[in-house]
Amino acid sequence: MKKSTLKKYAQLIAKVGANVQKGQYVTVVASVDQELLANYVVEECYKLGAHLVTVEWESDVVSKTQYKKASAKALSEFPAWKEEKQKFINEHLPVMIYIESSDPDALKGVNQKKVSEVHRNLVSKIKPYRDERENKYQWTIAGAPSKAWAKKVFPELSAKKAVEKLWEAILSTSRCGEDPIKAWDEHNQNLDKKAKHLNSLNLDYLHYESKNGTNFKVWLNEKALWIAGGERIRHSGVYFNPNIPTEECFTTPISGKAEGIVYSSKPLSYNGELIENFSIRFKDGKAVEVKAEKGQNLLEEMIKMDEGACKLGEVALVPYDSPINNTGLLFFNTLYDENAACHLALGLGFGNTIKDFEKYSNKELREMGVNDSGIHVDFMIGTKDLSITGYTRDGKKVQIFKEGNWAF
Ligand code: ZN
Repeated sequence: MKKSTLKKYAQLIAKVGANVQKGQYVTVVASVDQELLANYVVEECYKLGAHLVTVEWESDVVSKTQYKKASAKALSEFPAWKEEKQKFINEHLPVMIYIESSDPDALKGVNQKKVSEVHRNLVSKIKPYRDERENKYQWTIAGAPSKAWAKKVFPELSAKKAVEKLWEAILSTSRCGEDPIKAWDEHNQNLDKKAKHLNSLNLDYLHYESKNGTNFKVWLNEKALWIAGGERIRHSGVYFNPNIPTEECFTTPISGKAEGIVYSSKPLSYNGELIENFSIRFKDGKAVEVKAEKGQNLLEEMIKMDEGACKLGEVALVPYDSPINNTGLLFFNTLYDENAACHLALGLGFGNTIKDFEKYSNKELREMGVNDSGIHVDFMIGTKDLSITGYTRDGKKVQIFKEGNWAF
């Protein structure tokens, strides 16, 4: 990777993704194998006027050792200083930049019940703080290849070659070419047109059908908005892009109102392990039956993580003919795979997809049907032949997707 290209990517992350403002605190979360990129991102943040940038280092290898050697009780400890950290975050609202490079199989062989237990325990402590800061701070996720991840995507290549190839795919799908800022402006405008059109339809519910067996209906909130591309922090007016790349138009469905069955169209990496070729059947909005060729136990653990984990928190539309899908690659990473296919997410819904959401408390948003959970897991259901029919509140039938792509 040329240093100049890596610097350009770091600039895209800090400027277009996070849109760091003068005087802001920034936290960069990165794996220890991404030192060079993390350092460039830190530099870019300071160029934009950041007050203080902190890096939180992660390691797949150490995480695995922790899960193997420490007890669930020890891993779930939440001492006073961690509580103080949450308070500090809510007071200063640092911009969060996540550099995603983890091995899709990072925790393979670890007791998944233990992983879930630790997650559940920690989330219960952190969630009240997270709820309080929701929609108040800028954040962005962008990817960078680790050797393990690259080898998963290109098993036939040497680690060095695989990393090069994955970099190429990441940079092209992230629109990090000649002029990334201009490319992102145009892209956001195009996505926004789609979202505006969807909003004009006033959809009551969507009906999904595919030859793979998917036959599924999901109902939308009367006040729900479709969102695409960048988002704006209301109190500061700062526009940022939470995902690099992004290709989706999404909204939050009514928790508890979905019927039918969906079949996965891509594998899902969850808690450092893969779930493959699975189906989920919904009744009264709840996942009541799951079947997976690989990762059955993991999927079962996932939907019983907490009360809201079996209900939907997101509906997202992505054309089959998206630049990411057109690479022909399976990334084994949700940031990329979710932007290559229509998807749903189990767990937490997005309060900001409700019109005038600032007027409501979190509790009111939950009562309006925005799902609550400690998890938010996207899974891909988009196929080449997917048809989605929309039914509007005034009784009209509108084709939304035809043969896997936008019908309008
Ligand atoms: Zn999504």
